Amino acid sequence: MLSGSPLAVITLIPVGEVDGAALDILRRPLSECFATDVCRAPGLPLPMESWNRRREQYAAEIVLQGIADAAPGARTLGFVNVDLFSHGLAFVFGMADEGGRKAVVSLWRLRQELYYLPRDDAVLRRRLLTEAIHEIGHTFSMDHCGSSVCVMRFSNTLEETDAKGWRLCRGCREKLDKAHRGAASGVVQK
Ligand SMILES: [Zn+2]
Ligand SMILES: [Zn+2]
Repeated sequence: MLSGSPLAVITLIPVGEVDGAALDILRRPLSECFATDVCRAPGLPLPMESWNRRREQYAAEIVLQGIADAAPGARTLGFVNVDLFSHGLAFVFGMADEGGRKAVVSLWRLRQELYYLPRDDAVLRRRLLTEAIHEIGHTFSMDHCGSSVCVMRFSNTLEETDAKGWRLCRGCREKLDKAHRGAASGVVQK
């Protein structure tokens, strides 16, 4: 451990075929939001056992298991370009390892083209940033938030993702600051 190093590092990892440029664009805003360095790691293959033939989707839990645990204090965020599902849900935009330090986000449902709309890179970028901050937020002990304009609000549809935006509300910002302070002082955060 680097003592006195400012804060955690977030590593972005493409899992399977993912456009690396989309990930690079996230580095700066993620770095600003979480006050941490953001780097990119070489890609991982998509675990084939995550494929569910009946649903024609990939199991988010299994994809998440395929991503190595981040080092203490660090976070890892995987990106896939396939449709993810989880138990009891028709699909998920992403998933975080509860109480852990890794998460995964899917680009699949964030593209306008999937809904027969013209491609829009700015919209895709904003949605991806929203989902990335939301999932990383979970790895910093943040739960779902009731505020309609907080990134930590649960979203079930893209309309909800677009409406809430990618910013943390004041309460969640305070929780994140607290998690950071705990990490800096060596206190283990739940
Ligand atoms: Zn969530
Ligand atoms: Zn909030």
